[in-house]
Amino acid sequence: EVVVVGSCMTDLVSLTTRLPRAGETILGHKFFIGFGGKGANQCVQSARLGAKTSLICKVGKDSFGNDYVENLKKNGISTAFVGQTTDAATGTASIVVNSEGQNVIVIVPGANLLLNCEDLKRAADVICKAKVVVCQLEITPAVSLEALKMAHASGVKTLFNPAPALADLDPQFYTYSDIFCCNETEAEILTGIPVGNLEDAQKVGRMLLERGCKLVIVTLGAEGCMMISVEEPIPKHVPAGKVRAVDTTGAGDSFVGALAFYLAYYPKLPMEEMIRKSNCVASVSVQASGTQSSYPYRKDLPRDLF
Ligand code: ADP
Repeated sequence: EVVVVGSCMTDLVSLTTRLPRAGETILGHKFFIGFGGKGANQCVQSARLGAKTSLICKVGKDSFGNDYVENLKKNGISTAFVGQTTDAATGTASIVVNSEGQNVIVIVPGANLLLNCEDLKRAADVICKAKVVVCQLEITPAVSLEALKMAHASGVKTLFNPAPALADLDPQFYTYSDIFCCNETEAEILTGIPVGNLEDAQKVGRMLLERGCKLVIVTLGAEGCMMISVEEPIPKHVPAGKVRAVDTTGAGDSFVGALAFYLAYYPKLPMEEMIRKSNCVASVSVQASGTQSSYPYRKDLPRDLF
């Protein structure tokens, strides 16, 4: 089973011709609600590939929270450890996008920040019996770290995605992650090295190995990924297929969710092969618009990915 400990956010998206100035009211031409949050996104992608999944998270006891629970169930995700609280609202991301695709975003984490170590204790059984535990940083970082430690203590593989990045990440995150997977922005915030090409990513990889990581993956958008590990200290480039990208929002989460699936269900595959397959899944997700709405199902993917 893949267990994700992380966030749920309701995306409230308004499409406008231009972004409003301070104090200004403008008219938009379209509004839609989407399901987001890095934890839930990753869990949904894993589930759509066929993984048995549990999401450990917290939403509000409100209509967005109720709708989110329904969404998780529709995706076949176990909601046994989805808490609903009256002390905060479901996390939201209010997004305005102009006709050039530029955006402004306000995130209110709300209930996500109320997920605590007691909640993890209640879920200890699923965490410790998982094949893979996946964490990010859209919940209280100490709670993510505790989940990684619980998994590690039971010999469960840990996949950590340090997003959104923290400049002063607790160094224990490096040592308790079996796989540390970040994008170019996160890599730069963590190391101070701006990542514009493969060589930069390799420098980041080496630096993170020195900090205690066992295996580092840096995702490079259309260029695929860079991987480096203690076992294979010569960095490898794993390219992504050439596709026509329509909307890359949530591509990183599709990648992480897919990787969790392969780690759990094809543990004997070489890491490079798991990354190549995860690139394929994520590159399908960029060819449709939206976040979870663009994530492919197993039935829509080439047979050789399974
Ligand atoms: P994030 O969404 O966190 O910014 P990236 O942009 O690095 O992450 O994308 C994550 C993964 O999604 C890449 O490693 C790749 O597999 C896939 N991907 C992203 N953009 C493209 C693209 N334009 N073409 C093909 N694959 C892509």
